Amino acid sequence: MNDVTESRSAAAQAGNLTLRQFQQLIHEMYFEKDLARGVDGTFMWLMEEVGELASALRNGTHEERLGEFADVLAWLTTIANVAGVDLTEAVMRKYGLGCPGCGQVVCICADAEKP
Ligand SMILES: [Zn+2]
Repeated sequence: MNDVTESRSAAAQAGNLTLRQFQQLIHEMYFEKDLARGVDGTFMWLMEEVGELASALRNGTHEERLGEFADVLAWLTTIANVAGVDLTEAVMRKYGLGCPGCGQVVCICADAEKP
């Protein structure tokens, strides 16, 4: 069993998956194809999935929403893989210490501001 398969198996047994494990899983499943398609083509797929998520949020069932959230996260993760971005590092740098705007764990930025 390789590291990725092992971590996936451990995550599945625990009933959870870290962001790092998910990015590794997407890498294992799709990286060759993703690299060949490149960032531009993959970004188009992400946008299509975002549209499908909007539709599911408006008119879909809970099951459909589950699927679309998973798809959007998977395509976003794919782009990160092709661009050589570690999503865990990205998230921790920006949000690991709280809101990047006000620095608080519970945001106190003015409502008009984008946090
Ligand atoms: Zn804030």
